Amino acid sequence: MERVQLTNDLTFSRFIHGLWRLSDWNQSKEETLKLIEEVLETGITTFDHADIYGSYTCEDLFGEALALKPSLREKMEIVTKCGIVLPSTNRPEHKTHHYNTSKKHIMESAENSLTSLKTDYIDVLLIHRPDPFMDPEQTAEAFNQLHKEGKVRHFGVSNFKSHQFSMLQSYLDFPLITNQIELSPYVLENFQDGTIDHALQNRIPPMAWSPLAGGEIFSSDDEKAARLRSTLEKIRAEKDADGIDQIIYAWLLNHPSRIMPIIGSGKLDRIRTAAAAQDIHLNHDQWFEILQSSMGHDVP
Ligand code: NAP
Repeated sequence: MERVQLTNDLTFSRFIHGLWRLSDWNQSKEETLKLIEEVLETGITTFDHADIYGSYTCEDLFGEALALKPSLREKMEIVTKCGIVLPSTNRPEHKTHHYNTSKKHIMESAENSLTSLKTDYIDVLLIHRPDPFMDPEQTAEAFNQLHKEGKVRHFGVSNFKSHQFSMLQSYLDFPLITNQIELSPYVLENFQDGTIDHALQNRIPPMAWSPLAGGEIFSSDDEKAARLRSTLEKIRAEKDADGIDQIIYAWLLNHPSRIMPIIGSGKLDRIRTAAAAQDIHLNHDQWFEILQSSMGHDVP
């Protein structure tokens, strides 16, 4: 598995495993441990979390599995996020769905994540969404303190547009190392609005969430999904690939910005199939055929 150099002391596996849906998989902690070990065997060592996943339960489920074999911690990189406040029976004090990127909230959220994940450090902490009420001086203070205390190694953002990324960066003494954004052949917004250009300009590899559009490409009966399925199937046959999911991943991997797709499935066969997509090369014709079938028209 290829590795992506993010800083001089941190690399990610090119594919990342996402734990957003972990609580839906209804696994025992032994089963989650087995999945973590099998994912590591594929060469995928980077795991993506957020405090809010599973209504504040997924980090605990992962941490309980990790506690069965703590030696695995050194073999992986853990990414988690903070900044969204979600009303939940697990957080009865939360009244409204909102964002909070204050120093106090970030510090408390990071401490909760450390406790839940049963780890002493987070490799990368992301601000989950741009916050219209952000005081970047406070966000920077929280980052500095968490870094000084050895609790978080590096920081990044998620769902930030280029101007939001640059604004927060201007308050920090160290670089934000990634922007986790929605990228798939089905959702082109970040390819079209300058977000990917900003990542290229700053040499910051983006993490791609919902690379399969959360399954929509397979299941939706809208015209775009139908067009994409037929183009992807044509190219799958040309490449003799195992499934159209591999062509979707290859479309992302072949982009020069060093996109790191986050696999959302808990099924090992799907994770292995995804990992094998790193060997598929798409030519310009194939890459643009997929782009155009999503757009529904030719490029200008
Ligand atoms: P995804 O890979 O686009 O979607 C996963 C869904 O697609 C699952 O329901 C999966 O079903 C289904 N699927 C996968 N392969 C399939 C196939 N061959 N045929 C039919 N269905 C298939 O990814 P995602 O789960 O939406 O997102 C991935 C990760 O990104 C999350 O775990 C999370 O870590 C991160 N994320 C971040 C944000 C953010 O705002 N930063 C937002 C959303 C997600 P099965 O489970 O049955 O395989």
